[in-house]
Amino acid sequence: MKFLELEIFNDFKCIGSECPFTCCSGGWKIIIDSKSDSYYMSVNGPFGNKLKNNITTKGGDRCFALTEDGRCPFLNKENLCDLYINLGEEHLCDTCKTYPRYSFLAGDILFEGVSISCPEVADFFLSHKEALKIDYAESKKSGINDPKINWEVFNHSVRAFTTAVEIAQDRELTISERLTLVTLFSFQFQTYIDGKRDPSGLIELFRNHSGFSQILPQTGIYQRDIGCKAEFIAEFISLFRNMSSLYANLPELYELIRCLEDEEQLSASLGKWKLAYQTFDVEEAQIWQEQILVYVIYRYFMQGFERKDFYMKQVRGIILLFELIVSTLVLYHLKYDRLPDFKECALIVAHSSRIVEHSNSFADKVIEHFKTKGIMDPAFLFRLFS
Ligand code: SF4
Repeated sequence: MKFLELEIFNDFKCIGSECPFTCCSGGWKIIIDSKSDSYYMSVNGPFGNKLKNNITTKGGDRCFALTEDGRCPFLNKENLCDLYINLGEEHLCDTCKTYPRYSFLAGDILFEGVSISCPEVADFFLSHKEALKIDYAESKKSGINDPKINWEVFNHSVRAFTTAVEIAQDRELTISERLTLVTLFSFQFQTYIDGKRDPSGLIELFRNHSGFSQILPQTGIYQRDIGCKAEFIAEFISLFRNMSSLYANLPELYELIRCLEDEEQLSASLGKWKLAYQTFDVEEAQIWQEQILVYVIYRYFMQGFERKDFYMKQVRGIILLFELIVSTLVLYHLKYDRLPDFKECALIVAHSSRIVEHSNSFADKVIEHFKTKGIMDPAFLFRLFS
């Protein structure tokens, strides 16, 4: 069996009661695996009774019955886990043992990473100055031998994935340039795969970074289109405005929408929008945008292998996560003439991830809305990345 692990997968440590946005209080359905459920039902005494009274069946799944304010009933007032305290770490259910780690299988490779919806992970991604490492490992367990897998396409797609990561980590380019190249490359790669053509030449073209100076001017990204960006943000956040859980999940955006609407700052002068975007051009901001872009490529590109929809998967991650974070920070700048401090930024990243990466129905709604407006079209995206 082969594994790819995105940095911090093995080193991650939960900070428990120190966590500013614990995963046990976000209103998430915590599904209990059948082995843990059987064990919980066998526990005797007062804690056994508490378990029996606080585990329920919802939509066919066994899960903890959340309190009215969306907390796990075993999360105590000190934000510590009573289940951990009473039964030990080994008896946490699989969901609690696993989060924020995630994994998915593509071909014969298991991709493993940590979700940026955990503030501790977001903190790591934003503060990590070096390029993120992706480690390769192999175990003695026998590999996947699925006759339905098209190994030729798989090998091309792994090479395309590593090419996209290399472009995203090329610090001789600006983030706008990297976003543009990664998008253009994955769009063209998708066209080759759809047309059942050999993409080797295309991959080689995008592995040769010296050729980027000829490709980039043709995309139009050097004419920064502030009007297009501002219009996109206004429309983007209009989809979040009426979300009932916006305050609970992304309070920063909730507050900003209310303040800016009152002050009519959403129609602020283009000069103010321009200043806000310029703050993303400084080196420090370029680095954390790189880490989020690599996170998106790692998490989504190869998930497209099963249905051969690489481009859609990756663009969806970029629009939903990357653009939501940037939009919230731009609005923050419009309101306060500065970006939030590092800790607040990390929390905005974690909050944004929870709202779009852990709620497929909402994420689908946003994507469907924009699809009709041509947002999946690279030309539109280049204007957004300009
Ligand atoms: S969100 Fe992360 S750091 Fe916070 S309690 Fe959950 S796993 Fe721990």
